[in-house]
Amino acid sequence: MKTAVLVIGGGATGAGILWDLTLRGIDALLVEQRELAYGTTGRCHGLLHSGGRYVVRDRSVARECYRENQILRRVAAAAVEETGGFFVHLEGDAPVYAERWAEAATSAGIPFREIDLSEAHRLEPLLSRNVRRVFLVPDASIDPFDLVMINAQGAIRRGAKVLTGVRVEKLLVEGRRVRGAVLKDIETGEIYSVNAEVVVNAAGPWAGQVAATAGSHLQLAYGKGTLLVYSQRLCDHVINRLRPPGDGDILVPAKTVSLLGTTDLPALTPDNPEPTGDEIKALLDRGEELIPGLAGRRVLRSFAGVRPIYDPGEGAGRGASRGFAVVDHEEADGIHGFCSVVGGKLTTYRLMAEQAADLVAAKLGVSERCRTKDTCLPALTTLAPVPPDSIEGKSAPLVCECELLDKETFLQAVRRLARLTPEALLRGARLAHGPCQGTTCIYRGALLLYREKLLSYAGCREFMRRAFRARQRRGEALQGDQARQLELARGIYLQNLQLGGGDDEL
Ligand SMILES: Cc1cc2nc3c(=O)[nH]c(=O)nc-3n(C[C@H](O)[C@H](O)[C@H](O)COP(=O)(O)OP(=O)(O)OC[C@H]3O[C@@H](n4cnc5c(N)ncnc54)[C@H](O)[C@@H]3O)c2cc1C
Repeated sequence: MKTAVLVIGGGATGAGILWDLTLRGIDALLVEQRELAYGTTGRCHGLLHSGGRYVVRDRSVARECYRENQILRRVAAAAVEETGGFFVHLEGDAPVYAERWAEAATSAGIPFREIDLSEAHRLEPLLSRNVRRVFLVPDASIDPFDLVMINAQGAIRRGAKVLTGVRVEKLLVEGRRVRGAVLKDIETGEIYSVNAEVVVNAAGPWAGQVAATAGSHLQLAYGKGTLLVYSQRLCDHVINRLRPPGDGDILVPAKTVSLLGTTDLPALTPDNPEPTGDEIKALLDRGEELIPGLAGRRVLRSFAGVRPIYDPGEGAGRGASRGFAVVDHEEADGIHGFCSVVGGKLTTYRLMAEQAADLVAAKLGVSERCRTKDTCLPALTTLAPVPPDSIEGKSAPLVCECELLDKETFLQAVRRLARLTPEALLRGARLAHGPCQGTTCIYRGALLLYREKLLSYAGCREFMRRAFRARQRRGEALQGDQARQLELARGIYLQNLQLGGGDDEL
């Protein structure tokens, strides 16, 4: 197999690079070890930052966020909801911080407007009555799964290739030049190689491991963050606490749910980050201060992601820079045909991709300039209208009532997948994302796939087993109603559908 450019990593950065290269007419292939958005991108808050969060500590990152925020509202409108954001100063928070923040935002050129408390409560009725000042900023909510999908789809329509479930085992190095990579299909175990003129490492928190296979060194620190997903949309604006960034100080509305986060703890590895009970408690305690009663509301699931922080010497933690670096390994360690993109934010993924693609184009001698600032990404598919009788329950063309996921939308999501796996479908179709957490929609989805002849009978059972296991992992640290819901689902899958292996394990 041969390509001009091999992009490693199917997060926002890798997908953004693929789209950028394709618009410049450069032949490119992206490989992702699991499914698109499997890494940090699929485990983030989905906040399209206005820059307000960073403006006191790091003005240049704040400006970068604001500029990208304005661009993405235009070119990635299909994934963005223009919610606006609040920065709220509560009684007891240091008043001097609010003043510093307003000064810093003014000098960074981030637009904001202080609104009176009655307007704030009219716009956000659940907001604490202890709020003393509220500033309105151009934050927005961005769907990271849709964002990756539209970048990848846009690129595929223009001739790029995407392989999912394919891991780069090591880079192929001849002398001091990277010539491609050895790939492994993680389902079949097949090993093969791809030749490339340039390899771009956009493997997020795994970037150091990928670089090491070519003998390059990338110093990354890992910062684990945990988030809680609420079953309802509790606010219509992003709500940020106006004080130095800390745990549980951001609530983001995302379609039908809300996400509360996040913690920031050093991690030893990027693999399988798990939320802990202590983190969940910290989030609930802090969140309660912003929205009284939050701790008693229904949490659907918790999950954790690992920030890929490029900041040699400083380590992880809230003090570490959220800036990014495009590393040319020819300059850094004398290895030709290889570069890495590390650090940054979801909000700045397009800029990261632009700078990486500039470097790649220069290496290939291509003079086409970046066009991603002005070229709108194609929307996914339009949602089919929900037939009225399904709402009344006379028939059931819905796969999932919680998310109003109808059969056609579900099948469209299936067709978009390069490889049909339960994990990819959970991400791509929002299957099992609602309050029932898959109790009914996993088996309905599996049945549909069987009827459409996309899965065999045995494949269908395996699909249900894996899909439920994936959901269950994200609910393990939960208590109360949602823990009971998961037990009910477990009982149904184990007993009614007989999916257990005899040891009460799915
Ligand atoms: C809890 C949390 C909340 C956050 N919230 C926000 C937010 O609200 N707004 C914001 O702007 N930013 C946020 N961020 C930061 C943001 O999510 C990340 O900076 C961004 O998503 C990183 O994207 P990426 O594509 O660089 O990395 P990733 O999304 O991690 O993508 C890297 C991909 O490479 C793949 N890969 C790795 N190794 C290999 C290999 N050997 N072969 C093939 N594929 C490989 C991985 O599977 C992965 O999918 C948050 C981060 C965390 C942890």
